[in-house]
Amino acid sequence: MLIEGTVFRTHSGNYYVQTDTAGVVVCKLRGNLKKELVYSTSNSHARRVEQAGKRRSTDPLTVGDRVRLDSDLGMIESVFPRTSSLSRHSPSGRGEHTLVANLDQAFLTVAAAHPKPDVWLLDRFLVLAEAADIPPRIIVNKVDRLEDADRPEVEAAIAVYEKIGYPVYWVSARTGQGIGAVRDAMRGRISAVAGPSGVGKSSLLNTVQPGLQLKVGDISETNLAGRHTTTTAELLPLGGGGWVADTPGLRQVDFWEIEKSEIRYCFPELAPYLDECKFADCCHHTELGCAVRAAVDSGAIDRRRYESYLGMT
Ligand code: GDP
Ligand code: ZN
Repeated sequence: MLIEGTVFRTHSGNYYVQTDTAGVVVCKLRGNLKKELVYSTSNSHARRVEQAGKRRSTDPLTVGDRVRLDSDLGMIESVFPRTSSLSRHSPSGRGEHTLVANLDQAFLTVAAAHPKPDVWLLDRFLVLAEAADIPPRIIVNKVDRLEDADRPEVEAAIAVYEKIGYPVYWVSARTGQGIGAVRDAMRGRISAVAGPSGVGKSSLLNTVQPGLQLKVGDISETNLAGRHTTTTAELLPLGGGGWVADTPGLRQVDFWEIEKSEIRYCFPELAPYLDECKFADCCHHTELGCAVRAAVDSGAIDRRRYESYLGMT
């Protein structure tokens, strides 16, 4: 019988599929399907249409993919087009290696304190998510450790992101404060949690979903540094429905490259001004008649975010 499901783990040519109607089925990929399954990455933005033909995925099937399978044979018969794919350049240098398909959202995590929020790094994570067409949300964890003296500064820094339109969740993995809202937002979706080491990503997920038992203070991230390992993602099931992607590769900021000319589109607050500059090829650095700079001067665009843009371009 042909049924549908979501691939949540891959291992040595076996695909673990959570089917919609028949529980978990361990599948193989129909042999001749391997060749058919070469498609471009998501291109919901017109700006990337020109690249659609060039960018190719080297792996046929990954976690997050929706598939149709023959549950009697344990054979995947077809794969649905991806809505998004999070990729890194494959070690061979040819094409891309997709870590996770169909991510619905990325929770970019900082700590309110210990360590203080690194907004420059947060901006880089936001750009990566925007470039992959994965809607970002911001989690500010460890609110239980935020001293009153630091509160105004931290709140002002995060308010900038709320003004841009990014949803923000103030939480404590330790006390459980605010976790319900994160759990609700994750329900029924495929989510990733990303951010620097030590901000509490593993703790957060363990609080969202008791029983996941992710190792707190996970040392695997540091062990991976400098080595070229293939990171295989796995989707962890959430009790309320939905999945969270767990892969060390997802937690690091440098896992794929973005064209410099694309970065301007990854700062949503620049969008209203991009067509207003005097020169069509304006980079918004020092050009005359730059509408972006004018918006920075008038206060419509946050100056520090603009400096982040300058630093990346
Ligand atoms: P990760 O590297 O981002 O996965 O961070 P971990 O989950 O390993 O947490 C790093 C450290 O921060 C650990 O010592 C945690 O116990 C601590 N931690 C995580 N979340 C919180 C929180 O909400 N409040 C406090 N006080 N400590 C936390
Ligand atoms: Zn400009």
